[in-house]
Amino acid sequence: MTPRYHIITLGCQMNKSDSERIEALLASIGFESAQTELEADLILINTCSVRQRAEDRVFGLVRNFAKLKKNNPRLLIGITGCMAGRDKDKKFHKKMPEVDLYFPIHDMVNIPRWIAEFWPDRYLKNIDLVPDYLNITPNRHAKTQAFVTIQTGCNKFCSYCVVPFARGLEKNRLVKDILEEIKNLANQGYIEITLLGQTVNSYKAPDPEFFSSQNPYKNHFAALLWEINQINGISRLHFTAPHPIHMNSEVIDAMSLKAHFNFLHLPVQSGNNEILRRMNRRYSREDYLLLTEKIKTKLPNIAIGTDIIVGFSGETKEQFEQTLELYRQVEFDISYNAMYCQRSGTLAAKAFKDDVSLEEKKERWNALQELMEEIVFKKNQAYIGKTVSVLVERYEPNRKKIGDQELRGMCVGNSREMKLTQFPGSESLIGQVVDVFIEDAGIWILTGRQKL
Ligand code: SF4
Repeated sequence: MTPRYHIITLGCQMNKSDSERIEALLASIGFESAQTELEADLILINTCSVRQRAEDRVFGLVRNFAKLKKNNPRLLIGITGCMAGRDKDKKFHKKMPEVDLYFPIHDMVNIPRWIAEFWPDRYLKNIDLVPDYLNITPNRHAKTQAFVTIQTGCNKFCSYCVVPFARGLEKNRLVKDILEEIKNLANQGYIEITLLGQTVNSYKAPDPEFFSSQNPYKNHFAALLWEINQINGISRLHFTAPHPIHMNSEVIDAMSLKAHFNFLHLPVQSGNNEILRRMNRRYSREDYLLLTEKIKTKLPNIAIGTDIIVGFSGETKEQFEQTLELYRQVEFDISYNAMYCQRSGTLAAKAFKDDVSLEEKKERWNALQELMEEIVFKKNQAYIGKTVSVLVERYEPNRKKIGDQELRGMCVGNSREMKLTQFPGSESLIGQVVDVFIEDAGIWILTGRQKL
């Protein structure tokens, strides 16, 4: 019988992209995807360590899967991702003796060899391994949008963050490999590319000689954006997540090239200089404000998103107020707000006390969320009467009524400003770029009609 896998992916887009690589690897040795864990011979959890809750969930999942082993002794359970990556002394692994495969993500290339060791009756041990996991082409589920990893790991060591410990130091892919992957995607009909990296705009090409002689940029990330803009068929391009200190003039300039989204996600984390210093973010409130002004001068209608942590060690009410003030000044289009959660092994856990009470954190989170919703609603109103360009991702029958109008079904996708947009349409529009005239705007979604 064909062996089957079931992968559970927690956390960020990088993990999702990595899981698609694992799927491709398993397919190459004859595995098929199982509908549920009950039908699987291999269950893999690609973990996230950003929050304690995400790690706790893994222990619970493993306990449940271990029960399945009673009925299926050949069942293999695997853990990868941030949790396995940062567990240098195997503290977590020891708590989960049922786990058979436990590996940091870059070791995924060994999966075929390990499976051969567990099932020697089915697999040969001398399987050819791919040297670098980033060269495994992901088994992408979407047909028009693709995430392309250009870098892994991080050198920044923000004091609250586990990533440099879980994923190691920054490692950049070859320009040659990145462009080849994107050209192949364009040939297959993909039109939208999201470049992924932990500090994606610090990208430094190991093979800069591969940039074309007409490329006007010296900065490697700006130069990469320019090269991708030259690829026929790629009409929508964006990247996540940049670090403010690498957002230089050339990168800002390259964002005005035709394929680029009219959106930038630029994590700020706090609006107070002392907190930024303790977070080791390497910029000040003033630097960030100056930068966003510069970006808006070059790209006046750009939508800007951010990440903010409230209740970081030692954060006073006044310091938090400065975050709200910065938020009002920048008028972000979206922010992903998180309550600070101390993570073992990080610099902040060693140096500072997690001394803001949970109650206070919740209060600050609510205040920030309220402000965000107020500003987003106001900013979204400005789209009424305008036309946005939407890549249709899905079709939802009878999603919503507008006024008295009963709609047959809604097409849903993101505009170039990353505004979720819906309009009445048909399933046949999935994968197409449609101009949508906006008639209504809420906090979370714009609603309009197709402009013919
Ligand atoms: S830049 Fe900071 S927050 Fe982002 S991955 Fe690196 S250490 Fe973590």
